[in-house]
Parts: sequence; C-alpha cells; structure tokens
Amino acid sequence: MPENTPQTVLVTGGNRGIGHAIATAFKEAGHNVCITYRSGEAPTDFFAVKADVRDSASIDAAYKEIEAKFGPVEILVANAGITKDMLLMRMKETDFTDVIDTNLTGAFRVIQRATKGMLKLKRGRIILISSVVGLYGGPGQVNYSSSKAALVGMARSITRELGARNITANVVAPGFINTEMTAVLPEETQAKYKESIPAGRFAEPEEIANVVTWLASDQAAYISGAVIPVDGGLGMGH
Ligand code: NDP
Repeated sequence: MPENTPQTVLVTGGNRGIGHAIATAFKEAGHNVCITYRSGEAPTDFFAVKADVRDSASIDAAYKEIEAKFGPVEILVANAGITKDMLLMRMKETDFTDVIDTNLTGAFRVIQRATKGMLKLKRGRIILISSVVGLYGGPGQVNYSSSKAALVGMARSITRELGARNITANVVAPGFINTEMTAVLPEETQAKYKESIPAGRFAEPEEIANVVTWLASDQAAYISGAVIPVDGGLGMGH
C-alpha cells in the first residue's frame, strides 16, 4: 500500500455506472471511499451520503458528514451527470439549463466545497468526468457537450489558481461506456457509433476507473490541467 493511503475519497454519483466503478477501484486501493447518491436506497457497499449537486446546502451537509467520519476530502471525483438530448431547434431552454446546472455548476459546487479542506491540508486531487462529446460535439447534445467542454476550462483555471498549493485538477473524457446512460440508445445507433470508434467497441466502467485512480496516485503528481481521453480513439485530434 502506498505511503499516503488511506486517503478520503469522494465520488459524486457513486451509486451506479462509472461512479460506482471508480469508487470500487479506490476502495480496492485501500482508501476511505465516500459516495453521494441522489435517489433510491442508500448503497451499503460504501459510506454513502444523500446529496443533489444542484443544491449547495445538500452538498455542504454531505461534506460535513464525510468530514466527521473520515476528515477532509483529499481526492474528489466530480462524476454526477445527466443527459437531456434533443436537436437544437427543439431543445427547451430548461433542457439546456438543467444539464448545465447538474454537469457544470454541480461540479463547481462540489469542487469549491472540497477546496476548503484541501487548502488546509496543502494537498488535493480533483478529477472531473467530462466526455468525448465535450470537444468532439454530438448532434442533439448542444446542452451536454457545452457542459462537458466547460469542465476543461474549469480544471485549467483551478490548476492556475491552486497548482502551487499541491492541488491538481484533471479531466477524464470517456468515450462510449456500457452504463445505463448508453443502454437507452437504440441498438442500431449503438452499432453505428461502434463503427466510428477505432477500437470497435464501447468500454467498461472499470476502464475509466483505472485512469482516475492513477491520476489520483503519487505517480501522476505532476499532471494538472490535462484532458485524458479514454475513448478507444474516437475523439483523436482534440
Ligand atoms: P449514469 O446515468 O449511469 O449515472 C449518473 C450518476 O449521476 C447517478 O449516480 C446519478 O444519481 C448521478 N446524478 C445525476 N444527477 C445528479 C444530481 N443532480 N445530483 C447528484 N447526483 C446526480 O451515468 P454514467 O455512469 O454513464 O456517467 C457518469 C459520468 O460519466 C457522467 O458525468 C456522464 O456524463 C459521464 N460520461 C458517461 C459516458 C457513458 O458512455 N456512459 C460517456 C462519457 C461521459 P441517481 O442514481 O440518483 O440518478
């Protein structure tokens, strides 16, 4: 086990999909892992706190519970996200603002709250889960791709503000991953996407988790403001 283990890890939206795989990988690496869940029953495999990233008060309450149990969050994975796909001409303004509020402002809320403790500790790792679509674009995803592209500017500004305080902020940009988010795509759409992915397949959530845990490790201490694609080559040229 590395010297600085266990650390306190928070993964938002860690009850399912990519977030759950990330939380599991950190747990296997020996860390104290906390997750947020928004709906349903409290998961029992992690220290789980109910929180909605659209609500600062609920985030603050979640952090207080986590800090009381494990101390300040040292590794934060801003993973919670939604899609509300619709062609531009038919997209309602609320479809746009809801996605921004969850994916972008939600990340801002959880990161801002985490940096309090990280500044005191003089160390921290922030990992934002973006998407290949952030820089590649996607029809019907003006809202989603805008929210995910903005995470790059966010991570880079955080790096410029807090880089000297031993805090890194990086973006992981997954391609198509087998979760409930992609399961809703019709089979013919999935097949069409697979044809355009050089790897010829969707990935498993664990393939994202491996990269995220590495970014939080000592080995990645000098990486900040980076965008790491995990997309089977789909977005090459970013
Ligand atoms: P899922 O839809 O499987 O899970 C999304 C998670 O986010 C759930 O835990 C959900 O909670 C949580 N969440 C949504 N809204 C909120 C909110 N307002 N407050 C708190 N939690 C919330 O998605 P994935 O696992 O597929 O995606 C995880 C991340 O990866 C997202 O940011 C997504 O955009 C990104 N991504 C996914 C890709 C894919 O192919 N699957 C590709 C590229 C990026 P609840 O269970 O309560 O709904």
